[in-house]
Amino acid sequence: MFENEKAEVIRAGIKLDRYGLIALSGGNVSCKVDGDKILVTPSGMIYEDLVVDDIILMDLSGKVIEGNRKASVDTKALLYIYNNMPEVKAVIHTHQPYATALGLIYDEFKCNLTTLANATKGSVNVCHFSSAASEQMGIEAVENLNGKLAVILRHHGVIAVGNSLKQALYSCVYLEEAAQTYSIARSMSNNIAMMSETQIEQAVKIFDYYGQGKESVPDSLVSKG
Ligand SMILES: [Zn+2]
Repeated sequence: MFENEKAEVIRAGIKLDRYGLIALSGGNVSCKVDGDKILVTPSGMIYEDLVVDDIILMDLSGKVIEGNRKASVDTKALLYIYNNMPEVKAVIHTHQPYATALGLIYDEFKCNLTTLANATKGSVNVCHFSSAASEQMGIEAVENLNGKLAVILRHHGVIAVGNSLKQALYSCVYLEEAAQTYSIARSMSNNIAMMSETQIEQAVKIFDYYGQGKESVPDSLVSKG
């Protein structure tokens, strides 16, 4: 069941590796299917080695419907997110180093690039520490998302969410790029230019027009001069 969706989960996992967001089998990828079930990656397996039969199908109580592998150790946290945020259709958990590093310093990574605003919808909160494999990790994520598409987990990594795997993937990839850019700027100066709330809102709106099959960005949304 859901062979195409399982293949998409694997492809997203391979991209996490490609963009430097995980090492080896770290993190996990999951998505909702059929409204009330999720697909989740197995624990401790390298993404590029996965085949569709390695992806686990379960209901929202965690009961396995299909698959013989042991699901990600973070499944309790994932289920908490899906059960408490019905609008979330995909969750990606990574150990991306730049965003995680900022989570050791700040309680919030303030939005500083249009790409971050596009991908996460603004500044990203840092969650209190919770151990891997705990439901608390999901509780912290839900409490701190605050309308954005990512949170940083202190001492751990990132949880990105979306209405699709693509949206969750964009969120964690561009969060990492923004965190890296911020770190480079910070290494050269303490005086970092930040975006205003108006600029962030503008970037969020413009991104609605990004990609194929969408209308062009209206002139009224674009800054003059
Ligand atoms: Zn982790």
